[in-house]
Amino acid sequence: MRLTDAEFIPSPNYNKGRKGTIFLIIHGTGSSFNSALSWLTNPASEVSAHGLIAKTGRLIQLVELENRAWHAGKSKWGNYTDLNDFSIGIELENLDNKKDPYSEAQYSVLAKVVKECIQIYPSITVANILGHSQVSLSGKPDPGPMFAWDHFKAQLSINSKPEWKIEMDKNWEFARNTELIKGEATDTITKYEEATFLARLYNLIKKQHAEGIF
Ligand SMILES: [Zn+2]
Repeated sequence: MRLTDAEFIPSPNYNKGRKGTIFLIIHGTGSSFNSALSWLTNPASEVSAHGLIAKTGRLIQLVELENRAWHAGKSKWGNYTDLNDFSIGIELENLDNKKDPYSEAQYSVLAKVVKECIQIYPSITVANILGHSQVSLSGKPDPGPMFAWDHFKAQLSINSKPEWKIEMDKNWEFARNTELIKGEATDTITKYEEATFLARLYNLIKKQHAEGIF
């Protein structure tokens, strides 16, 4: 599967398919765009990512979204290990020297890519967008302190909320309005409404469990 508006330059460094898609991992290349591109497409490097975003905002896709790119290395988050099995990886051109700023074009292209990935894989939540350094077991430092997480996350508009989250919020609102949440269901809620609510909640939780969210 291809990202909209990406140039496709295939990397040989991937496996067909993946166990799941729960995380999105952000990287800094630690090198110029040209050396990153040649490294990520060189069979000898045994590394890749799904996407590479240059400082100019140029977007390259290297691996089809549904395939397993080799970007996270030895890694762990919560109960998940080997995050290549569960994630999309995006590289940003950056020297990774704690001084090189990420460009506005990168933040905006990244936000667009992330929103598209969330649409395709609603099981990626905003909380599951992580930096390589957070999950790496071999001490990878990227994307580093120059990556402005708040600035980036502010660009993920409300529309990027996954469907299950929108549905969950609606249920919470319903529960709050009807005071069901406090266990003070009154005559205003019929038994039917209560049963419907609980059934919807049960199905949501089941769905999220299947997607590995709980
Ligand atoms: Zn990395």
